[in-house]
Amino acid sequence: MQLNCPICNQIQFKKCGSFFRKNDSRVVQRYQCKNCNKYFSNATFSDCYKQKKRRVNDLIFKLFSSAASMRRIAFIANVDRKTVARKLIFLGLRCKRKNLIFLENCLQVKHLQFDDLITKEHTKLKPLTITVAVDADRRTILGAKVSQIPAFGHLASLARKKYGSRVSHHRKGVEHLFNEIQPYILNKALIRSDLHKLYPELVRKFFPQSYHERFKGDKAAIVGQGELKRKKNDPLFSINHTLAMLRDNIRRLVRRSWCLSKCSQMLQHHLEIYINFHNRYLV
Ligand SMILES: [Zn+2]
Repeated sequence: MQLNCPICNQIQFKKCGSFFRKNDSRVVQRYQCKNCNKYFSNATFSDCYKQKKRRVNDLIFKLFSSAASMRRIAFIANVDRKTVARKLIFLGLRCKRKNLIFLENCLQVKHLQFDDLITKEHTKLKPLTITVAVDADRRTILGAKVSQIPAFGHLASLARKKYGSRVSHHRKGVEHLFNEIQPYILNKALIRSDLHKLYPELVRKFFPQSYHERFKGDKAAIVGQGELKRKKNDPLFSINHTLAMLRDNIRRLVRRSWCLSKCSQMLQHHLEIYINFHNRYLV
């Protein structure tokens, strides 16, 4: 491993003892820089630097992707609730980096499917939408982006009265996702989606040579489980089944659950964790 001094960025340094790290029982090599005489160690470069509970990182990563609530994760991992909240951010950022590396390493996508999943932050009067894109052949999740939308239906007037007007960031969210996955989609790929009015324009903008097919959404097979369709041969099976898996495996997306997001950024972190788990273990 090529090491550089974290202070002056020189590569000339010498070994200078070691120390025993109690929280994961490892011996860590320490170095001294020959240029600035400062000390550093192998631990300085780790993304777990200065963590006291690094033993539970992997367990918490798996529990976050297995429909456990944050309180229950704290109970199982035997750590404080605040630690779990901090691990959500740490793991979210780590998984985001891994997901980008995964995209770079996988083959170009021939068949893309994407759709939106509606959820909420704090109350039903503040809905959010999650745009999800999947590789329909390999069933891997390419990306997901959370964006806020205004309340709709019979709650719209009540929401405006209580929380004022809420701007829709849906277009920005879809553009952000498409921009991120664009280099990994084949030029003449097949793209499938439902009849949402925003989609054709954005698909033309980001994937001008692709072939875009649109389908009307079918009725749900079970009441309250909108993602599982009644049709025998659902043309949007890959995306619908992936959305159903998100609903089942991410506790804050489960319908009629006690758990919900208080903040959309945390939902984004949670999605990155699940995407990494899904592409690594389930596909
Ligand atoms: Zn130095």
